[in-house]
Amino acid sequence: MSVTGKSIIVVGAGMVGVSTALELSKRGAKVTLLDKSEPGRETSYGNAGVLARSSLMPINNPTLLSQLPGLIGNRGAGLRYDPWFLAANLKWAVRFMLSSRPSVFRKTTQALDSLIRLSIEKHLQLLDQTGMRGHLSDQGWIFLYREQESFERTALLRQTLAAHEVPVSHLRPQEISELEPALMPIFKHGLWIKGSYSVNDPGAIVTGYARRFAETGGVFVQSGVERISENDDGTEARLSSGETLRADKLIVCLGPWSRNFLKQSGYDVTMAYERGYHMHFSGASRSDRKRLTRPVYDTGGGYVLAPMTQGLRLTTGVELADCDAPKSDRQLKQAEKAAREAIFLGEPVQDESWLGRRPTFPDSRPAIGLAPSSRNIYFAFGHQHIGFATGPGTALVLADLMEGKTPAIDAAPFNPERFITRRAS
Ligand SMILES: Cc1cc2nc3c(=O)[nH]c(=O)nc-3n(C[C@H](O)[C@H](O)[C@H](O)COP(=O)(O)OP(=O)(O)OC[C@H]3O[C@@H](n4cnc5c(N)ncnc54)[C@H](O)[C@@H]3O)c2cc1C
Repeated sequence: MSVTGKSIIVVGAGMVGVSTALELSKRGAKVTLLDKSEPGRETSYGNAGVLARSSLMPINNPTLLSQLPGLIGNRGAGLRYDPWFLAANLKWAVRFMLSSRPSVFRKTTQALDSLIRLSIEKHLQLLDQTGMRGHLSDQGWIFLYREQESFERTALLRQTLAAHEVPVSHLRPQEISELEPALMPIFKHGLWIKGSYSVNDPGAIVTGYARRFAETGGVFVQSGVERISENDDGTEARLSSGETLRADKLIVCLGPWSRNFLKQSGYDVTMAYERGYHMHFSGASRSDRKRLTRPVYDTGGGYVLAPMTQGLRLTTGVELADCDAPKSDRQLKQAEKAAREAIFLGEPVQDESWLGRRPTFPDSRPAIGLAPSSRNIYFAFGHQHIGFATGPGTALVLADLMEGKTPAIDAAPFNPERFITRRAS
């Protein structure tokens, strides 16, 4: 069941879609990649650029229940929610909570660890092939703790990272200052996640992979897609222009937009949106000021700060709200205030904040594989906080599944049927 010579449409050109299109094109398929924008202009543009083994730890881990009382006030920088959204997505919320049980958590960390490892290896190859290795830092990232008690609550995190052999160093205040002199001495503990990477311009990396896709003979068409369908001859995508494209197979990689998009094609997708914002700041303005050299996660402040080509990128935690609900800068303002306690941020270097949506299934694992009740439509979306890191691994797994090969990692935990059903037509 080789894909060589097969025509394949990939809908969505974020990190997941571009990586998938590139992998299939390299395997000899005739691939058309579709997106309403240029590749990598949405969620895959504005993230924190972290590629880290530590991301195997989902938010819904066994400590979630004990955190609930602190979340009820809905004022935290790390997590906010729109109660109406939660009420309308109760099925997702209940299943998200249930997935924090130790048995599900263990399966998830195992599955995410294998996907992250595979992906990082592939990213390194792709960055070399595209001449973009210079965008990558191998200095890991640091979790920072302002209070002794908050560090003590990391026991499960530390145990889990140790169980998966993620290299971590416990940092004392002096060591934090030595590693990152730009930080104010307000942190009592740090966890330095080593053997991990970050990039200084995630959007540019997607653009580079898309360029490589074109070099392998792939075709990118900038167009919105209205709906998809399948018949005895294969698959179809109806474009916003009214034109219809046909192919043997079709893959949906629409990230957060997948759920609403698939509704009209008869699929029910139990997925939510963990929205997050970013703003760039000038950071050090004079030569005597020290610059941040790697991403840091201020756990008390509820933000990640990452050095990017555009400036210091301040990214916020989670806002559970509808995909297209209006923006609210409350969390960003809160994060900015906290970040100013930790570092010299300087001035904002953009007029408006950026909003992204992390697409999240209840068990925090993406959907990768054949669409339910389908022969030729495939899904690859729902990569929550780690889709920039795990796009290339997703592509390898999906391409193997499409070719009837056994993927390098167990694909069963990513079966789309976990949370996607197809209504009888
Ligand atoms: C604040 C924040 C920080 C993050 N930090 C990290 C991090 O450090 N590391 C990490 O690995 N991940 C991180 N993530 C998560 C990561 O960004 C996402 O998981 C990932 O970008 C999802 O990629 P994707 O290709 O699935 O979706 P997207 O990048 O959103 O791509 C989907 C594409 O579909 C297109 N599209 C939508 N509708 C249509 C349509 N009808 N027709 C045609 N095209 C359409 C869009 O234009 C878009 O290009 C972060 C996310 C946020 C919000």
